[in-house]
Amino acid sequence: MLRWIDIIKNAKYSNPEPARRVEKSEEGWRQQLTPLQYQVTRQKDTEPPYRNAYCRSYDPGVYACVCCGSILFNSTEKYHAISGWPSFTQPASRGAIKYTFDNSHNMSRIEVMCNICDCHLGHVFNDGPEPAGLRYCINSASIVLVELE
Ligand SMILES: [Zn+2]
Repeated sequence: MLRWIDIIKNAKYSNPEPARRVEKSEEGWRQQLTPLQYQVTRQKDTEPPYRNAYCRSYDPGVYACVCCGSILFNSTEKYHAISGWPSFTQPASRGAIKYTFDNSHNMSRIEVMCNICDCHLGHVFNDGPEPAGLRYCINSASIVLVELE
């Protein structure tokens, strides 16, 4: 289980080695994604709260990166955080996510990205539920739910 100290260490020193890499030109991403997906994932924008696909969705399955398809989160780790965005307590695996300090908008936050393609996902905070206390606040535009049979 990942804890806040692990997140800080990843952001500060080094992230897990990715299992593979997916890289594309900006034009390549623009062609693959909708304008909102492109804006959020490749330009680090934030979609509107509540009016997004997975905020209130609790269907079972796994959430994959909208850009490269790698598995990022399990629906079993999703919980209701009343933030307006889908929230998770843990990633699907330790190597799925990459972390970096983000001091934009006069805030001190930790940005969460796909470790395979560097897609912007959202931010992680230390006010999540026990036992790990993590809250991954993720844009619906960055993920896609793959429902399991
Ligand atoms: Zn990705």
